[in-house]
Amino acid sequence: MTIQIPRGTQDILPGEVEKWQWIEETAKKICQLYQYQEIRTPIFEQTELFQRGVGDTTDIVQKEMYSFQDRGGRDLTLRPEGTAAIVRSFTENKMFGLPNQPVKLYYLGPMFRYERPQSGRYRQFVQFGVEALGSMDPAIDAEVIALAMEFYRSLGLKRLKLVINSLGDRESRKAHRNALIQHFQPRINDFCSDCQERLEKNPLRILDCKKDREHELMASAPSILDFLNDDSSTYFKQVQHYLNAMNIEFVVDPTLVRGLDYYNHTAFEIMSEAEGFGAITTLCGGGRYNGLVKEMGGPDTPGIGFALSIERLIQALEAEAVPMENNKQMNAYIIALGEKAKDYSVALLQNLRRDGLSVERDYMDRKLKAQFKAAERLGAQYAVIIGDDELSSGVATVKNLVTGEQKEMALENLKEGLLD
Ligand code: ATP
Ligand code: MG
Repeated sequence: MTIQIPRGTQDILPGEVEKWQWIEETAKKICQLYQYQEIRTPIFEQTELFQRGVGDTTDIVQKEMYSFQDRGGRDLTLRPEGTAAIVRSFTENKMFGLPNQPVKLYYLGPMFRYERPQSGRYRQFVQFGVEALGSMDPAIDAEVIALAMEFYRSLGLKRLKLVINSLGDRESRKAHRNALIQHFQPRINDFCSDCQERLEKNPLRILDCKKDREHELMASAPSILDFLNDDSSTYFKQVQHYLNAMNIEFVVDPTLVRGLDYYNHTAFEIMSEAEGFGAITTLCGGGRYNGLVKEMGGPDTPGIGFALSIERLIQALEAEAVPMENNKQMNAYIIALGEKAKDYSVALLQNLRRDGLSVERDYMDRKLKAQFKAAERLGAQYAVIIGDDELSSGVATVKNLVTGEQKEMALENLKEGLLD
């Protein structure tokens, strides 16, 4: 038996990987425009980091983590998300003391969750996310949302839906929590065992249950928006005001609660409304997590961020049939005929490459015609033919593969000629 790829993972092959590179470059460009700096944290962390940082009652911690002991008996976990590790790093590296506040960071890399694989759901997937730590200005909430929307827009997605909600501050959440317990308690036996456990620990998460979403008590559940105190309500209105100022359309959905335990105030999701996108339509999720840094042992620092996966983004691009930009040009294919010319071509390719030209040659001992075919397949702009005659006269035959035009070019001036 040949060995196969692990379930829920994928190879990204040449031909497909260009799409990933384009997306990753776009993400980096957008972050530069919005002044978010890249941070790279380890692929594995202490298991406790996620238990505390993501929360014990979440699906991630309860069911989805790739946890293991290393040979030294340490409990480690492949990172299932980015925020907890960034908060750890922020605290550990005392970034709260940096002169530039808020600290605006982004990350791009693989995450691991033991989930049932299906369309848009992998066990290894790549997330792009940002975090802004240290500011309690509602304009930063709006900026983080705008960055995500602008990222999708600049890639060419049009059928997006932004949904926002407020989970309020601690006081508002507490009042809402009590109302939720009263609402669900009498009929909690109708609900799944996860929800029964959530009732005491974190009743808000019942609203996020995928199994019981059709239960009549879900639609009639008390809305968080009725429990926002003045501060929370003002904050939420400001965020909406700024989104309006940027002409970013949104809908308020009071049932939107995010999966992680530590969210408060702003919560948002971006969905794809493209036809044929499939059952899972959420592309991006984010929100504010003001208590988290303190919970993780740092000074009380507010924060907000989002995470989105490249896999679901690609699915949305495909559903909307967005054409992919491909400006990776190959300058020339060097066709060397005869031993001397072949010998010469080795150094020629190296020099042209050093001069910044993308060039290729034949390594399969192909005939002239097959080499031309190869040059066309690779999308070379020029074919450069060098035989023994050309070598001794110092002039190569250069064919423009786009126009078909053919001319002589001095080997010495090849670089300039090919860049012309
Ligand atoms: P879902 O409800 O779909 O499970 P989630 O709440 O677990 O999402 P987050 O933890 O907020 O998702 O992750 C942010 C984004 O990462 C999601 O909106 C989604 O685009 C993407 N994502 C989450 N899990 C996966 C996965 N297993 N494979 C691919 N992308 C994923
Ligand atoms: Mg999930």
